[in-house]
Amino acid sequence: MTAFECTLCGKCCMHAGDALIEIEKRLTSRDFLCRQKVVGGTFRARVEERFLDAFRDTAENDRHPSWCPFLRGLPGEEGKYICTIHNSRPLICRSYVCCTMRIFDSGGEEVGKVKGRRSLVTGDADLVRCWDEGVAPLATDDDIAWKSEVAAILGRSGYRVEAYE
Ligand code: SF4
Ligand code: SF4
Repeated sequence: MTAFECTLCGKCCMHAGDALIEIEKRLTSRDFLCRQKVVGGTFRARVEERFLDAFRDTAENDRHPSWCPFLRGLPGEEGKYICTIHNSRPLICRSYVCCTMRIFDSGGEEVGKVKGRRSLVTGDADLVRCWDEGVAPLATDDDIAWKSEVAAILGRSGYRVEAYE
């Protein structure tokens, strides 16, 4: 198993967005007093020097008011997003991983992921069939053994599995 690697797709920060973080007060041009709305409490957020230009460009955020107020597109990288307060982001963001497995087809394209403990998320009908026939019946309660069995089962159908710790 390998360590989880964020692909900067931004989806978690788009979906959790303003339900997670609210700016209470602007303290300086780059410092903000914020409320973390899930577990409560406040924290001080500082926009990083390297992201100041990106942070000032609010065009995309203005079209998506439900996004986290600190999410911005990564300049020059279509489809990638950054947390402009990366070093001062709250604990809930630091500890979040969006999936425990990624599944790739034989061409190396990501076609599915496992969220939560064992929930498959995919639009690939062949993978769904393979999962229903081979993975769903697995009875083991041990997550490490389960992940290894899943990798073997999907591997026999041409998929590659990346499992995270
Ligand atoms: S944690 Fe997951 S959903 Fe969030 S940006 Fe990274 S890859 Fe995307
Ligand atoms: S603070 Fe950063 S990591 Fe957390 S939701 Fe906002 S953009 Fe995402």
